[in-house]
Amino acid sequence: MKQERRSFLKKGGVAFAGISLLPEWLAARPKTGKKPNLIYVFPDQMRRQAMGFWKKPEYASLLRGTSDPVHTPNLDRFADESLVFTQAVSTTPLSSPHRAMLFSGKYPHKNGVKWNCRADRENQLDPRAECLGDVLKKSGYSCGYIGKYHLDRPEANDPDNPGHYVNGSTRPEQKCWDAYTPEPLRHGFDYWHSYGTFDVHKNPHYWDSEGKKHEPGIWSPIHEADKAISYIRNEEGQRDEQKPFFLVVSMNPPHGPYHSLKDTDEDVFRKHYSEEKIGDVRELLNRPNIPEEHRPSKRCVRYYASHVSGVDREFGRIVEAVEKSGQAENTIVVFASDHGEMMGSHGHMGKTRIYEEAFGIPFMVRYPEKLRHRTTDLLMDTPDIMPSLLGLMGLNEQIPGDVQGRDFSKFFVRNKKKGKPEASLFITHGNDKRGLRTDRYSMVLSGDGKEKDLLFDNQKDPYQQHPLSWEEHRETADALLLLLARRLQEIEDPWVRENKRGEMMPYGNF
Ligand code: CA
Repeated sequence: MKQERRSFLKKGGVAFAGISLLPEWLAARPKTGKKPNLIYVFPDQMRRQAMGFWKKPEYASLLRGTSDPVHTPNLDRFADESLVFTQAVSTTPLSSPHRAMLFSGKYPHKNGVKWNCRADRENQLDPRAECLGDVLKKSGYSCGYIGKYHLDRPEANDPDNPGHYVNGSTRPEQKCWDAYTPEPLRHGFDYWHSYGTFDVHKNPHYWDSEGKKHEPGIWSPIHEADKAISYIRNEEGQRDEQKPFFLVVSMNPPHGPYHSLKDTDEDVFRKHYSEEKIGDVRELLNRPNIPEEHRPSKRCVRYYASHVSGVDREFGRIVEAVEKSGQAENTIVVFASDHGEMMGSHGHMGKTRIYEEAFGIPFMVRYPEKLRHRTTDLLMDTPDIMPSLLGLMGLNEQIPGDVQGRDFSKFFVRNKKKGKPEASLFITHGNDKRGLRTDRYSMVLSGDGKEKDLLFDNQKDPYQQHPLSWEEHRETADALLLLLARRLQEIEDPWVRENKRGEMMPYGNF
């Protein structure tokens, strides 16, 4: 046993070589030879900076700028056992477009979702798209979805109130965001405990596989972790015991509201973020790009941080259930988010911006049987996640032919340089922007040229406070514009056909 342990650590195993940190469940490491399970946990609006482990020496220099002073002991431990992406972003930092790209492996103009889903918008995940759940179902998996979905155009199909939207109205223009997803639109998920979008964290609701509504009356991540743990244990026969499983857990916090104790987990708040614990709220607003007098962030940040720590605790419970299940070796667990949160930086709240606070997301993959713990600066786009996970699962031949994302699983398994992508794309259809982020620079152009185009050197200016002059950095800007034009051409983005910003973009010149 001792010999085995030493050789594993020598190969770069878990945590820090020389220090015996192998958890009990990992020590044996039998190869199962079975198809792996996949659990994808993604809270909403959790930014890359909102994890405690970035402060540790192994990670501190890898995050540009400082991290948030949050308590996330479970994520910290999970990071030490995972492949940790240090530069992960959300291609469109907005709920529905991110989710559609994640599951379909296609960009917004190909998957049907350019904006957040709402009844009065022609905007819905293409029912014909062969999504991650569809592929895994076909490959012999049980598939479960728990939490926020937000990928359908809401219909007047409330199971308890036919002819009405689930918000009680009969007319689509009456702010119908939330949705009941009928079985044909579930894209392979045979176990369902989900809703469209609904932001009352302590009074959440869900529709189950049969369309029955549940209102558990507790802080939603607690309920969702309970359901996930029950699914992992298969307590109620939610899945076929003979099949591998794919489980998505989509938590709503740390998404707003984050205004009071009514929104958050009170225990976590009192333990870490109350006024007794942190007298000066500016300790939590530790980024120099937040204007001194920015009131919304001062009002909200204690509750945002409290949401983050509550999510951490519930994620820890899910991971513990995996470990106790005896299937940890052979279970891929991903922790990610759909986008970040500005929380006062540059005077903004919310998302949909190229700034690191909104664009950056956590992305960690734990798969003891195949992946060693390390960090990676791999620059993916959101549509790359689906084919990369399928590749990692040994299902690369099942990746649908029309998927636009790239299978980067070889970069998950090994730290290769050759063929590594040079940039991650930034795409918004709402305000029509295109941009990218390389290891060093972030750049964004606005479609009508009315808003200022921005270029940042994230190495010299990690808080993006000093946009570079395009004229003074012509060579850099030209190289980035060429890269952007080439990538937009590769994904057949509408900007290329419309020759949008053609005075700057060198379409076709490569
Ligand atoms: Ca979201």
